[in-house]
Amino acid sequence: MTISARAAERLRSGHVWVFKSDVVSGGGSPAGAVVDVADERGRPLGTALYSNSSVIALRLVSREPLAAAEVVGRLVAERLRAAIAYRERLVRSTDAYRIAFSEADGLPGLIVDRYNDLLALQVTTQAFDREELRGAVVRELVRVPGPRAIFERVDARIRALEQLPPLHDRLIWPAAERETSAAEAANPKTIFSLSGVRFRFDALAGQKTGAFLDQRENYAALERYARGTALDCFCYQGGFALHLARACQSVTGVDSSRPALEIAGQNAQLNSREIEWIEANAFDLLKDYAAARRQYDTIVLDPPAFAKSRASVPTALRGYKELNLRALKMLGRGGILATCSCSHHVSEADFVAMLASAAADSGRVVRVLEHRGAALDHPAIATIPETSYLKCLICCVS
Ligand code: SAH
Repeated sequence: MTISARAAERLRSGHVWVFKSDVVSGGGSPAGAVVDVADERGRPLGTALYSNSSVIALRLVSREPLAAAEVVGRLVAERLRAAIAYRERLVRSTDAYRIAFSEADGLPGLIVDRYNDLLALQVTTQAFDREELRGAVVRELVRVPGPRAIFERVDARIRALEQLPPLHDRLIWPAAERETSAAEAANPKTIFSLSGVRFRFDALAGQKTGAFLDQRENYAALERYARGTALDCFCYQGGFALHLARACQSVTGVDSSRPALEIAGQNAQLNSREIEWIEANAFDLLKDYAAARRQYDTIVLDPPAFAKSRASVPTALRGYKELNLRALKMLGRGGILATCSCSHHVSEADFVAMLASAAADSGRVVRVLEHRGAALDHPAIATIPETSYLKCLICCVS
């Protein structure tokens, strides 16, 4: 497949994406094909996975020209083994972490999370949806880390974008007909732990993911500073709140999703913790609490991605500022704020500038104690900026 000079430059600078508009010829390949990529002068640039529906038409998997059989038969297994070895080296204090993270592990379109004895696999490109690639992935995962079962988690929106047939969350290994003990092995429930805090996971429960594993190290980091009364806004299943409960006198978690709060409640029970869970719109709750002059010693803000595109960045920054300003007003002297953004369109610099502006408006002095990102099992590749998406600033407010 031939690509424009601009796209070739992008690949040479270490990125792996080619946009549809940069494909000059060869765009008629089958969905999910393994293709050779070259610039307009015919110079080879490597091997890529093709999508005929995504705006990202090509995702480079190798800078060498490889046959499709080599990608399926060798490259995917090698990449998975490297990804697993990387986690073995760097991941500590948990039995739940991301084993493979798409482009960040040279496996564009494949996400695999480990939750104790279960694996949750997600496919986000046409190529990884093909049976040959699925087979190669499962063969490797079954060897190491040797799970009890592998489940597929489905993001219906992504499958629709990739024009893939709809699927439901399902067991993919062991296959029922091959294993006599399959029914037992296939129990979709397990318990995993992050830094000693226990969480329930149900691979077939319909929530998008089991946990936000990328925040794991940030939970532990915040716990070191947290104290007094704590408010966890956008708490989901209680990741921050449960860690805060080990350091604070009282903890309140707020989320607009009732199913998420139900699991948060079960997680609190599992850890014998008393936490107050409030189902509310966090924007409204912060507004009401700020007006009522409520004070907290520790506040967490971890909203969903507000900026889904570059165009929505200014609106997103206004949303972040509103939240942060209210939180700053509610923090007592010496209070701790953990403020996060998981949208890669909002840069670290934009996010810090937003916080500065909220600090100025609130008249508070904000000391940034730690600039943090995603946990180490979500690698940030220097040449692929989209892989550094999560920002978490831990601050002391006076
Ligand atoms: N802090 C969580 C992850 C948060 S994900 C963790 O570490 O596990 C974002 C959460 O925000 C989701 O649970 C979603 O239900 C919730 N949410 C989205 N919009 C909201 C709103 N306006 N008010 C409160 N919660 C909201």
